[in-house]
Amino acid sequence: MSKQQSEYDAVVIGGGHNGLINGAYLAKAGLRTLILERHDIVGGAAITEELHPGFQFTTFSYALSQLRPQIVQELELVKYGFMPLLMESNLTPMDNGDYLLLGQDEQENIAEIRRHSKHDADAFEQFSYDVAMVVQAVRPLLDSIPPDITSTEPEELLRMAALAQHVRSLPPRVVHNGMRLLTGSVADFLDDYFQSEILKAAIASAGIIGSKVGPRSQGSGLVMLYMSIGEHDGDQGAWSFHKGGTGGFTQVLARAAVGFGAEISTGTDVSHVITSNGKTTGVALKDGREIDADVVVSSLDPRRTFLQLVEPRELPTELVDSIERMRFQGTSSKVNFALDGLPNYPALADRGEDPFRGFINMGPTIDYLERAFDDAKYGWFSQHPYLDACVQSTIDRDMAPPGKHVMSNFVQYTPYELNGSDWDTERESLGDTVQATIERFFPGFGELVLHREVVTPLDIERTTGLTEGNIYGGEFLGPQMFFFRPAPGWNQYRTPISGYYQCGSGTHPGGCVMGGPARLAATQILGDLKMSP
Ligand SMILES: Cc1cc2nc3c(=O)[nH]c(=O)nc-3n(C[C@H](O)[C@H](O)[C@H](O)COP(=O)(O)OP(=O)(O)OC[C@H]3O[C@@H](n4cnc5c(N)ncnc54)[C@H](O)[C@@H]3O)c2cc1C
Repeated sequence: MSKQQSEYDAVVIGGGHNGLINGAYLAKAGLRTLILERHDIVGGAAITEELHPGFQFTTFSYALSQLRPQIVQELELVKYGFMPLLMESNLTPMDNGDYLLLGQDEQENIAEIRRHSKHDADAFEQFSYDVAMVVQAVRPLLDSIPPDITSTEPEELLRMAALAQHVRSLPPRVVHNGMRLLTGSVADFLDDYFQSEILKAAIASAGIIGSKVGPRSQGSGLVMLYMSIGEHDGDQGAWSFHKGGTGGFTQVLARAAVGFGAEISTGTDVSHVITSNGKTTGVALKDGREIDADVVVSSLDPRRTFLQLVEPRELPTELVDSIERMRFQGTSSKVNFALDGLPNYPALADRGEDPFRGFINMGPTIDYLERAFDDAKYGWFSQHPYLDACVQSTIDRDMAPPGKHVMSNFVQYTPYELNGSDWDTERESLGDTVQATIERFFPGFGELVLHREVVTPLDIERTTGLTEGNIYGGEFLGPQMFFFRPAPGWNQYRTPISGYYQCGSGTHPGGCVMGGPARLAATQILGDLKMSP
């Protein structure tokens, strides 16, 4: 085995967005940093690929929202090409040909809701205010390292006291709404405000994204809250599409990381983390080389970080036990299309591209969403799935040739484990089901299809390494968040192996193209090294 002599202060395993952000912060602080990515392109679950000539596909993740705004500023991302484009609209088609179309103008939105229910139009402001208050209360927690509940160290007791003080400082209505969202179902929460099915469904769909919960399951409130936390240019809850897709965004991150002095090595597959006497000394690559470093950071999910990259016998039994019991259960897929033209929604035919410049929610009632979940409960994919679609070429013209379009469909529910079959067998059957669902709302859709790409949970796992295809790098529900992400006592980015850290989506605050885990992990690492960020 040959030994590579060039030594680094820090090696980051994985060049997804978290690995890139973490590497950029470490390099910015002055550490000689190397980011290792096994694929030929960086980005992980945030890539853009030309899968049909002239058509750019966001293979996996497709929109930006949760990105912590401090990262844009601290890593000077604008200088490196950061260009989020607002997703302006939210269209929910109905089975009777009508629709709910929300946009950027508050008064027009109220008028549109009033078309469906005067009661709901009157209630919308209170709902928006109540959710915004909870978001405001929760947001600081996303930007701080959570306390370690297993520790009696004075510093940790102070963190717990600060947390209690934060909760005490909030109005009781905000605490109560927060608790209802954190522990309850999105359907119950919405029932308090609204009567019309279409508005409830449009909002409730945010409560099921990436999770094995239906809108009437506990936990769906938390997912809806998480999805409300993002912002675009200071506008809470707004989503954007990065120029060139999420792959365009991770290219910006790569340029920033290199700009701060990090090196990126693609096509470099890490076999394991080298340890000696409870300390890491670097990484071994699958090609036999070794790279020395005092700090090794894994951006892979907790299963891989703790059970594959190191020998579990080097770790405390309780930690191994927690990670083995951590739930992943991916339930989402993607079906991406290259289209010959814009889909047709007859009732909006005179509005051109405007209704398509954002999200299209295919899931018109709470019952529709819940029935889609019923299939998954018994181990099959939804026969009438919920689709979160966007025609991205209406936002960024460069995604498709002139007059043509790309359409991304996030599909729910598609459980990782199928009862009596497997995803290699069912892939195209899922594609057909999704296409038929789009056809149900957009007649003539099939005639527009030039190319179709079906990405199942198994494909997600194989390509990105996200275990069981879980988009959050580990289910994002109460038992696996904050104090417990990824395991009690190990929620502060350290591991039991000195110098070995974690920074992926399976750590606090969680998944999505958010960068929060990577930034907080960098703070922890630099703090341990007594360096300033
Ligand atoms: C289908 C889908 C749709 C999604 N949609 C959205 C969305 O619209 N908006 C949003 O905000 N989030 C979305 N997400 C979630 C989001 O994309 C992920 O949570 C996030 O990208 C994960 O980032 P990460 O850096 O933590 O991990 P990853 O992106 O998984 O990066 C890990 C990297 O490590 C590399 N790697 C693995 N093993 C090794 C090894 N041994 N050696 C070297 N490198 C290795 C992988 O190749 C990968 O590049 C979606 C996810 C999926 C799967």
